[in-house]
Amino acid sequence: MIHNRLRVKVRFLSEDQSSVNGESNDVGWLFQQLLSRYGPQGWWPASELFELVVGALLTQNTTWTQVERVIAVLRQRQLLTIDAIRHVDDQTLWPLLRPTGYFRVKTQRLRAMVQFLGRFNDDWRQLFQYDTDHLRQLLLQVNGIGPETADCILCYGAGRPLFVADRYSQRLLARLGWIQDNAGYDATQHWVQQRFPVDAVALGELHALIVRHAKVHCQATPRCQDCCCGGRCCAPLAIK
Ligand code: SF4
Repeated sequence: MIHNRLRVKVRFLSEDQSSVNGESNDVGWLFQQLLSRYGPQGWWPASELFELVVGALLTQNTTWTQVERVIAVLRQRQLLTIDAIRHVDDQTLWPLLRPTGYFRVKTQRLRAMVQFLGRFNDDWRQLFQYDTDHLRQLLLQVNGIGPETADCILCYGAGRPLFVADRYSQRLLARLGWIQDNAGYDATQHWVQQRFPVDAVALGELHALIVRHAKVHCQATPRCQDCCCGGRCCAPLAIK
């Protein structure tokens, strides 16, 4: 479902979003540069909503590769459901989550999440009936859910038009000279959302493309050679 919507949206975005009403659109330009370089990322790689939530909780302080491995094991052990996580004991879960680090903390967070979902009878439709602001506030009250995780669930799971303004996005946009180094999560999210289609699929794809770019080129110590954004970047000369 998400992938079909993505194909349609990416076709739309590929047409030309580098200007809106004749005015330059920096984020549209960035999206097209990254899309041309890397192609559609097809996030979130989850066939089920709960898998998305588990991925969002486990990915904190680890790599997505580790998360994918753990999710595959959880699926194999038939533990990738709300009810299974609710009933499995810690001694079974800890060694399975260990590769993602902080496995005891992450176990508690998974339990907090399933307890939270239980308030809605494990029914996503009941949870997602609320407007975006209220839903975000509800999620932020769950142990372990911060703005980034909440927005991942809201954007990729609930289809709400929120940009996940993680540290990769903040770093890239600051290097491009568009935001301050210390802009922070909320200001970065607001800045992007003011300049890009208010659409969950487009915003989700933009975030996925930025993460890809951060891994290939715009790392902590950037690899600026052949970067598709180099022509408009303020950082490369300063970093060299
Ligand atoms: S030119 Fe370098 S610093 Fe600028 S966006 Fe590309 S990789 Fe990042």
